[in-house]
Amino acid sequence: MLRPEVATALGAVTTDHAWALVERFSTLKREHPDDVRVAAEEIATRLRALGVPVTIHEPELFLSLPGLASVSLGSSRFRAKPMALSRATPGTTAPLIHIPNRQDPSLEEFFARPGETDRDRQVRGRIVVTEGFGMPGKVAHYEALGAVGLIAVNPGKNPHWGICTTVWGTADLYDLPRKPAIPVVAVNNPDGRALIAAAERGEVGTIESALEEGWYSSPIPLVRIPGTEDPDHFVLLHGHYDSWDVGVGDNAVGDGTLLEIARVLWSRRASLRRSVWIAWWPGHSTGRYAGSTWFADNYAVDLYESCIAQVNCDSPGCRWATEYLDVAWMSETEDFCKAVIKEVAGKDAKGERPYQAGDYSFNNIGLSSYFMLLSTMAPDDRAAKGYYAVGGCGGNIAWHTEDDLMEIADRNILATDIKIYLAAVMQTANATVAPFDFGRTVGEFEATLARYQAAAGTAFSFEASRRALAELRAALGKLAERAQSVAERPVTDSTVQAVNTAVRRLARLLVPVNFTTRPAFFHDMAEQIPPLPDLAPSLELGSAGPERRGFVLTHLVRGQNRLVATLRDAIREVERAL
Ligand SMILES: [Zn+2]
Repeated sequence: MLRPEVATALGAVTTDHAWALVERFSTLKREHPDDVRVAAEEIATRLRALGVPVTIHEPELFLSLPGLASVSLGSSRFRAKPMALSRATPGTTAPLIHIPNRQDPSLEEFFARPGETDRDRQVRGRIVVTEGFGMPGKVAHYEALGAVGLIAVNPGKNPHWGICTTVWGTADLYDLPRKPAIPVVAVNNPDGRALIAAAERGEVGTIESALEEGWYSSPIPLVRIPGTEDPDHFVLLHGHYDSWDVGVGDNAVGDGTLLEIARVLWSRRASLRRSVWIAWWPGHSTGRYAGSTWFADNYAVDLYESCIAQVNCDSPGCRWATEYLDVAWMSETEDFCKAVIKEVAGKDAKGERPYQAGDYSFNNIGLSSYFMLLSTMAPDDRAAKGYYAVGGCGGNIAWHTEDDLMEIADRNILATDIKIYLAAVMQTANATVAPFDFGRTVGEFEATLARYQAAAGTAFSFEASRRALAELRAALGKLAERAQSVAERPVTDSTVQAVNTAVRRLARLLVPVNFTTRPAFFHDMAEQIPPLPDLAPSLELGSAGPERRGFVLTHLVRGQNRLVATLRDAIREVERAL
């Protein structure tokens, strides 16, 4: 399935340059602005030594740098980590209240809000102690209920760093009111158990937490490798180079991956048909994707008009991560991603809808997207080691702790993952027609609507959406035939260009309606966003009281208008190409 020039390029991959960068990064604490700057210089110096031209942007990003924290209980003091963008406090003292976490201890817990409990009414004026991670939805939920602080009881022996704001990247004026206003810290499990016991006895605790926040000049190295036939259109490959502590598995390995792909593609740019842009982001950990968000904001029109796909690279090549089981991909890219992974790694991949996370800062622009985390440990292997779910490092629980060291990287797995990323990106750039199947997206929408219709029963009909989807499916069938018939033509052929324009326009329309509620060029919240989010309130129709029910139905009318109008625009875009 890979084009011959792509297969040839894979033969040029080595791990020498990537591994040297990983080793260097294992000595830099890349959450701190000084080490971030050194890391950016390392990337740029190595690129230039390899002959690859690089541009360095210097945006001012709003970041939050955690310092020291502790929780005290009488004369006992427990080690804690402040969550980035939580409020600093010289000492917040209040009664503790334990709210047991009933959420699925899988990745879901990272993004969803907690369900309501009868204890919610007792939260006001207290410090909430709850199991899991201090993630944004949870923090926003308890802050709104009047909690004065939150202590996240992490599952392991080490508390994990993280960021607790729902604001995506640097805030704009819509976002600013959502900046967390309470202290939030993480503690390890044994200490957390003691704090839970104290909460059950009704004791008072104190959080001390130091953070420094403000505007920090943060370099973004950007490589642009021009295509030879259609240089205006490009694939964006990207990953973060800042990390918690030295962050080897998350994400020095990803930075090495990008470096090697830049080297190989630059040296083989004569065989690149369209352009590839490669970017390394700062501000991922301490600014909730502030680097990629700045880029989305400042290259918005280029991305909107000319980007074929965005590809995220986070935590590849980690120890024991031999499987491809929770790979993020948007539906239109699913078959393509599976085929690439099968061909390069010989593995059957399983994927999922991308979470609202991991530098997916481009959904409001409407870019087809694939990959975030890539290889992962087999579930049996994780279970045998007693590991809990984490958000990176291939499943290694060293993720976001001071244990994320060289032993977390695996050079052989890294070699395979570099090849997967290279094959996917180059194939996307070189395919005559972008290798995406929006019939899959229509199928996803149909399945989503069937679920929402079942929940709504006779209270609301999605028939108008279903009719528009059927029409779009028929039009896409004709587009696929047209794409097939021009597969051997040059990429500059006007029919080929028309088909590719339609594919990009489909993404600009169908990605936002499926992944966002905010307008184009703004950013949705860093929280779980359900499929076709404006129709998801149908799920609560069964339990909504008589008053709320009318508001839900009003929302669904507007949501369906948005979807039907979007689908009809999509049909017109496809017809224009036929
Ligand atoms: Zn990461």
